[in-house]
Amino acid sequence: MSACEVFSKGFPGKLAVQMKLHEYQSKDLLAKYGVPVAAGDVTSDPAEVKAIAERLGGNVVVKAQVLMGGRGKAGGVKLFTNSDDASTFAKELIGKRLISIQNPDGMIVEKVLVTETIDIAQEYYLSVLLDRSLQRNVVMISKEGGMEIEEVAEHNPDAIVKLVVDPAWGLSDFEVRGAVKKANIPKEAAGQMVQMIKKLVRVYEENDADMIEINPCALDANGKLIAADAKVSIDDNALFRHPGYNETSSDSADHPIEAEAMRRGIAYVNLGGEIGIMANGAGLTMQSLDEINAAGGRPANFLDVGGGANAERVKTCVELIMMDPNVKGLLINIFGGITKVDEVAKGVLTAFGEMNVTIPVVARIEGTNVEEGRKILEGSQVIPAATVQEAAKMIVELAHA
Ligand code: GDP
Ligand code: MN
Repeated sequence: MSACEVFSKGFPGKLAVQMKLHEYQSKDLLAKYGVPVAAGDVTSDPAEVKAIAERLGGNVVVKAQVLMGGRGKAGGVKLFTNSDDASTFAKELIGKRLISIQNPDGMIVEKVLVTETIDIAQEYYLSVLLDRSLQRNVVMISKEGGMEIEEVAEHNPDAIVKLVVDPAWGLSDFEVRGAVKKANIPKEAAGQMVQMIKKLVRVYEENDADMIEINPCALDANGKLIAADAKVSIDDNALFRHPGYNETSSDSADHPIEAEAMRRGIAYVNLGGEIGIMANGAGLTMQSLDEINAAGGRPANFLDVGGGANAERVKTCVELIMMDPNVKGLLINIFGGITKVDEVAKGVLTAFGEMNVTIPVVARIEGTNVEEGRKILEGSQVIPAATVQEAAKMIVELAHA
């Protein structure tokens, strides 16, 4: 995978853009803003499912809490009329890998959400997201909600009304009303939907979200509009403004090493290849990916050590890279600016000393304190290279040997 592919891995670019919240987290957030959601509770314990279901009166939906779409079709969402069946199903579901069209690799179910069943009469679709080509946030509204929305988007795009949010003026009531009307939302739901859209846009803006999707946005038999499903993702770059989400971020990553990296505060993306890469700065890291590709190898990861990293942080980075069993060689590409190369060298050797690293390692190091850095690495297993190209060629050859 080359550098630009890293940015397009996932939508809309998973490198530093999205932190998905689980449905239960999304619904908690929406409820704080007054968006109607069904009562419920989350648990990882099937026995507790029974208790929750009883408390909710027995008519419940059990929903796998995995960060992927299409759970319904994958068998991860089921309706029950008594607590025993709900709990039996939860027992089967928890620990199981759920596979959907959107996510062929699947994800393990760790928790389930148990909610009161909504007596759904109509299923609509609502979302707020960033339209990168327009450089605007947009609200999407459709009368054709439910599990076939992808089909609708593809074959009947006119059934989805797009409302552009003006960055200076926001949305005015009449615009929202007009869009809801254009989407042919029936009268009994229209007023409630206008209110819901305004709340969703507030949630989106105040929480630095880059996507909120309500599908289905359900009109129940009593004429009440309820968010029956909710997917919220927060812009990673704004997480420092929302410290509460950092704690939940680990279970948002789709990959165990990515989750661990997030916990340790390191930007790491697993790319599935065999050459581990440790570089500093996003630019140099991406150059490393490209050089590995050009040399005929496949990068195992994107990892940015970050500016001014000390030996301890470097050690953490090496540990993360080595957690990946596919890694057959390690490329170190550091240009010391604020980062001091001798600190990097110390961190690398400490990590190797503690971990018994047996794979080949090639390092191209330059910049601040480079002489000290080279001295530290002298006589170690780290093979020096003069240029990035040379380093990439060497490590690919050694790893494939
Ligand atoms: P997704 O498949 O991952 O998007 O999961 P959803 O939460 O959207 O659930 C899938 C489908 O299950 C929905 O499209 C609904 O048709 C159905 N469903 C979910 N919750 C309820 C509910 O409370 N009542 C009813 N009648 N159906 C529900
Ligand atoms: Mn859904």
